[in-house]
Amino acid sequence: MAKKIKVILLFGAPGCGKGTQGRMLGMLPGYVHLACGDVFRGIDQRSELGRIFSEYSTKGLLVPDEFTVRLWREHLNDMVATGRFKPDRDVLVLDGIPRNMQQAKLLKPFMQVIRAVEIRTDRDPEQLVARLRSRALKEGRADDAQEGIIRRRLEVYEKETTPVVGSYPKGIRAEVNGLQSPMEVARDIVCGILGCMLPSEAGCRRTDAIWRGCPRSGGKKKA
Ligand code: ADP
Repeated sequence: MAKKIKVILLFGAPGCGKGTQGRMLGMLPGYVHLACGDVFRGIDQRSELGRIFSEYSTKGLLVPDEFTVRLWREHLNDMVATGRFKPDRDVLVLDGIPRNMQQAKLLKPFMQVIRAVEIRTDRDPEQLVARLRSRALKEGRADDAQEGIIRRRLEVYEKETTPVVGSYPKGIRAEVNGLQSPMEVARDIVCGILGCMLPSEAGCRRTDAIWRGCPRSGGKKKA
């Protein structure tokens, strides 16, 4: 890929509903969703790569960076080759990558980040733990099964991923209150992506969203 691809980065702690929102955005014309966790879960779990993924994810840890970025790039190239992502036309909605500063650095040469949206749920970590435990039952995910592992994943997000969010210029960042209904979160994400439009013009109730970096909102934070 010679030209940089246009991306929207979706951030949020495990269990915040990022996957649901990413899939929703991926259904809009011109937007393609790609979740790094899905790329990992899609590989043959008995292969060498599958074993590496399982070794780290079952401990609640990030898979090593070089390996992650290589696998992600191979997957993206495959999406381009098969026409599932058209770099000259589509915007890629990236969920779950970059997850630390080193990954952000490795990805930088390929990406033009047009928005970095963070779904915030930090006022209620216990709600996240409860959501992840219920997901473990529904989806049989080993990394969600034990409370200790869930808590480690939340810590890894705070320690490693939060600095990545803060590393993007304020003008392209938007924070959304994830403790609302999925529909309200979706509405605020779309408003955050449109960015230059005032939330009221986009039909949003500004009081329910946490806005930062939206050029015409004056960059104010509202809880
Ligand atoms: P969640 O968003 O609930 O944490 P994901 O499906 O995004 O779940 O990720 C599941 C696991 O896959 C992570 O805990 C981690 O082990 C691995 N993983 C996913 N994305 C990355 C990444 N960008 N870098 C390293 N490991 C990752």
